[in-house]
Amino acid sequence: MEANRVRDISTSMIRRMFEVVAEAKRRGIDIVSLSIGEPDFDTDERIIEFACEAKRRGYTHYTSNMGIDELREAIAERYGVERDEVMVTAGGSEALMNASLAFIERGSEVVIPSPNFLSYFVYAKLCEAKAVQVKTHPEFRLDIDRLNEVVDRNTSVVFLNYPSNPTGVVEDERTLKAVVEIAQDAKAIVVSDEIYDQIYYDKKPVNLAGMENVVAVNGFSKSLAMTGWRVGFTIASKELLDSMLKVHQVNGVCAPAFAQKAIADAFAEGVFDDVTERMRRAFRGRRDYIYPAFRELGFEVVKPEGAFYLFPKIPVDMDCVEFTEKLVMDGVAVTPGVAFGGGNERYVRVSYAASMDSLKVAVERIRKFLESLA
Ligand code: PLP
Repeated sequence: MEANRVRDISTSMIRRMFEVVAEAKRRGIDIVSLSIGEPDFDTDERIIEFACEAKRRGYTHYTSNMGIDELREAIAERYGVERDEVMVTAGGSEALMNASLAFIERGSEVVIPSPNFLSYFVYAKLCEAKAVQVKTHPEFRLDIDRLNEVVDRNTSVVFLNYPSNPTGVVEDERTLKAVVEIAQDAKAIVVSDEIYDQIYYDKKPVNLAGMENVVAVNGFSKSLAMTGWRVGFTIASKELLDSMLKVHQVNGVCAPAFAQKAIADAFAEGVFDDVTERMRRAFRGRRDYIYPAFRELGFEVVKPEGAFYLFPKIPVDMDCVEFTEKLVMDGVAVTPGVAFGGGNERYVRVSYAASMDSLKVAVERIRKFLESLA
């Protein structure tokens, strides 16, 4: 029998989108996929070499639950914290799950600005808590007064995610620090998901790592195009890490040893900065193409300052699921806004982690699609 805590977690949206794309492919339709949540780059060849070498040198066993010292030290140095405040995890997702199980009390409230990464809603359900959504439309900026109203003694966790998936917004330092203060007053933990912190265009995102009551979640899936390697990390006070370790020791246990060592080498050899800089440049070029192109097509859209997503409002009177299903038949896959929380029925997420040529083809197909609706 399925346990209550998973009963109303739905996988129907993912299945439906999968079926719609499969049906379009069966009909022989060529599809440009703008629904992907990972960089379209392969892991850098130098990191692959570091990993092969690490395997030969015996990095094939468990590591300490906290991660190998070399990697923890490299992370600590970069974020200006102590090594003891860093825990390496099996991807950002494991870190989010550890934080959720460690800090979301059953029956408590979990504050989630909407739109946002779907997983936060799932963590709230798994922990049998109530998700309190705070809408941020149409600019997708946090409203401090609104947060002040909803964050109270019933709040266990506030999820923040900047640069944002799905909007690309990078929230400013003053606002983020105000949220942390509000959470501190309510004795709530801020889980700051900073997984896109290396992908920014105009201003450098703020890292909340090191602040009291903050659990910063990060990883190398996006920054080094290593989604399949499963290495993430958490930065928090020793006390908060101790609570998360209780979960991590039975959850991820440790990230793959050779992958940890390869990333430590990437830091030591200057490969980290080289890879992130190159990806940033490529994504910036695409952002500078796709944002004006969508505006020109008639979409209302906030200019992304980070990550690799646009979250445009559909310019015709159509629900996002219908829009997405019809657009696939015209050769472009995007993600319906409802996958990112309440109030997003008229939006879609467009990932520009695709080649410039693919983006240009997609824009022309969307133009024709919109013309066919007029
Ligand atoms: N957080 C956000 C906002 C994401 O978009 C993703 C992946 O899409 C993750 C966390 C999870 O990343 P990881 O591959 O490190 O588990």
